[in-house]
Amino acid sequence: MTAYPHLLQPLPLGHVTLKNRVLMGSMHTGLEERGDWNRVAEFYATRARGGVGLMVTGGMAPNPEGGVFPGAAGLYSAQDIANHRTVTDRVHDAGGLIAMQILHAGRYAYGKDCVSASAIKSPISPFVPHALDEEGIEKQIADIATAATRAREAGYDGVEVMGSEGYFLNQFLVTHVNRRIDSWGGSDENRMRLPIEVVRRGRQAVGPDFILIYRISLIDLIPDGQTWEQIATLARAIETAGATILNSGIGWHEARVPTIATSVPRAAFADLTARLRTEVTIPVIASNRINTPEVAEGILSAGKADMVSMARPFLADPEFVAKAASGRAREIAPCIACNQACLDHTFSGKLTSCLVNPRACHEVELDYPATETPKAIAVVGAGPAGMMASIVAAKRGHRVTLFEAGAQVGGQLNLARRVPGKEEFHGLVDWFATMLTVSGVDVRLNTRADVEALRGFDEVVIATGVTPRDPGIPGQERALGYVDVLNGAPVGPRVAVIGAGGIGFDVSEFLVHAGESPTEHPALWRAEWGVGDPATSAGGLAEPDPSAPARQVWLLQRKAEKPGRHLGKTTGWIHRAALAAKGVRMIGGVTYDRIAEDGLHVTRDGVPEVIPVDSVILAAGQVPERGLADQLLAVGVTPHVIGGADVAAELDAKRAIDQAARLAATL
Ligand code: NAP
Ligand code: SF4
Repeated sequence: MTAYPHLLQPLPLGHVTLKNRVLMGSMHTGLEERGDWNRVAEFYATRARGGVGLMVTGGMAPNPEGGVFPGAAGLYSAQDIANHRTVTDRVHDAGGLIAMQILHAGRYAYGKDCVSASAIKSPISPFVPHALDEEGIEKQIADIATAATRAREAGYDGVEVMGSEGYFLNQFLVTHVNRRIDSWGGSDENRMRLPIEVVRRGRQAVGPDFILIYRISLIDLIPDGQTWEQIATLARAIETAGATILNSGIGWHEARVPTIATSVPRAAFADLTARLRTEVTIPVIASNRINTPEVAEGILSAGKADMVSMARPFLADPEFVAKAASGRAREIAPCIACNQACLDHTFSGKLTSCLVNPRACHEVELDYPATETPKAIAVVGAGPAGMMASIVAAKRGHRVTLFEAGAQVGGQLNLARRVPGKEEFHGLVDWFATMLTVSGVDVRLNTRADVEALRGFDEVVIATGVTPRDPGIPGQERALGYVDVLNGAPVGPRVAVIGAGGIGFDVSEFLVHAGESPTEHPALWRAEWGVGDPATSAGGLAEPDPSAPARQVWLLQRKAEKPGRHLGKTTGWIHRAALAAKGVRMIGGVTYDRIAEDGLHVTRDGVPEVIPVDSVILAAGQVPERGLADQLLAVGVTPHVIGGADVAAELDAKRAIDQAARLAATL
């Protein structure tokens, strides 16, 4: 008897039956643009072996003007078809099914040749799109239909037509971007003509026995977005035009509301999919912030959707479905929705990967083969680096002893999980703890390893982490460290945080919240961000109504630049906006003079001033904790030093876990 009967139930689609209700949603990997189709094939085949019902590829451009950036992957030539064939063959050999996403970016295409309904620039692009004439629109439709035919030729089981997230088809739907007065604009009917025509002609091109998913925007989250009535009318027309399944799209990329970040409540938008389900007779898919089999099963068992889409969770763990099906759900590496190694990489031109699974998109070059020479390995420090090194080494067959001075595993992850909006870190620490047990690591808690204790091991790995940097500010004995604060030390009503890095932002978030975290309380979260109902407000935008801050916070840095500039590319704006909504004063260009009874004395623009605070918190970065590493070197033992103990300046879980996995793969 499975705990996930709805999730694991097959879904008949007529000409084909999906083996379960799980769709791996579209993600850009970056591998296609590098032309390494063997790696692309292995990426998808690995996930097919993990049991997912249907996968959708990253977006493929139907023509050069529709590519997300110049040179974006597409499907134009005979060679392209052969490349894609490598992928579909490998997936089918692995027992999987795969659909190709056709993504026309419209005005989101990063290039001067981009096209749209009208010549209106998006706030997230420097390029003004060319307004298409009727012939141009016909060409786009023909190119999308041709891409669908080529996808079929390349062996795909279907296509997903990207109609949401503010891309080309979505752009025609709203007066915000579509100001046309011809037969493609003006009335609701005219604005819907393009997506409906695309689906009709796409279906005509591929025939009946081919999956055609249409991803429909259920809440645009932009001014003058669609109303629910318009969305429902479009959904019914898309069904009639020949779609097999409707997938949920949430928010345009230019929306100022987070839709997939870790602070978004789990399954926050599933109720919109439930409403869509009452409008059509074809299956509908729920999406966004679904990352555990429990959440997915809950949506399906409540009748809110026929399938669930998860994308990033399949970077974190390709075996998501297989583990859920075999009673090993606790072993599923959780996607914590951090974006650090996936979307932040994508938008920096780097290969996609995953913070918790460095093998994601690196399946071919990073492997954890069984060792032929098992060794006794000591790992010191049970933070992310130490835990990952231990798990990978033990999985390979080594005998691993993990020493941890504290009473629990997790290191700095235990601090992160106290921050409102970072609740996903609970699951990450739990997963590490489970995997340490499953892989047979001998975990010694409350044990401070010394040189003596480490004698006799074949290899020693030092993952002792960091200690907070001493900023040397006169009077700092009056200040609190961020560790104490996150561990519950009392803090006054007016607070200055020294240091505006990731931790300064986290601590500020911790301090301005009182009571329930909005991430755990969807109604609160919607009020914080101004998310309404498209049935009552176009685009689903409402006036934000954030709760009052629990404290008055000043977040300071010395650099004369906007605080938070170096936070994650796709999430930094969320942290800045969240603190701004709580009235946090984020100030750069500050010199710290002293901390005194009347507050924090600083100089700004050459002018001394006193910030009248009751508490000052130090979050001024860290330095490596390598005392034990140095002691070992002194007695002739050369340890492997990883994580923050190696480089504190870049202390972050992504680098620590990646470095640990790569080391353990070679021991
Ligand atoms: P950090 O990012 O290096 O920031 C340290 C802050 O302290 C900076 O604002 C810096 O700004 C200031 N500072 C440095 N030296 C100082 C000194 N001597 N006196 C006073 N201020 C000083 O370090 P962190 O905030 O501790 O974060 C560490 C790492 O954890 C980050 O790099 C990140 O990877 C990870 N993290 C990430 C997140 C996230 O949201 N993604 C959250 C938490 C942690 P000035 O030099 O301009 O004063
Ligand atoms: Fe999820 Fe973060 Fe991994 Fe991206 S990097 S897949 S958001 S855990």
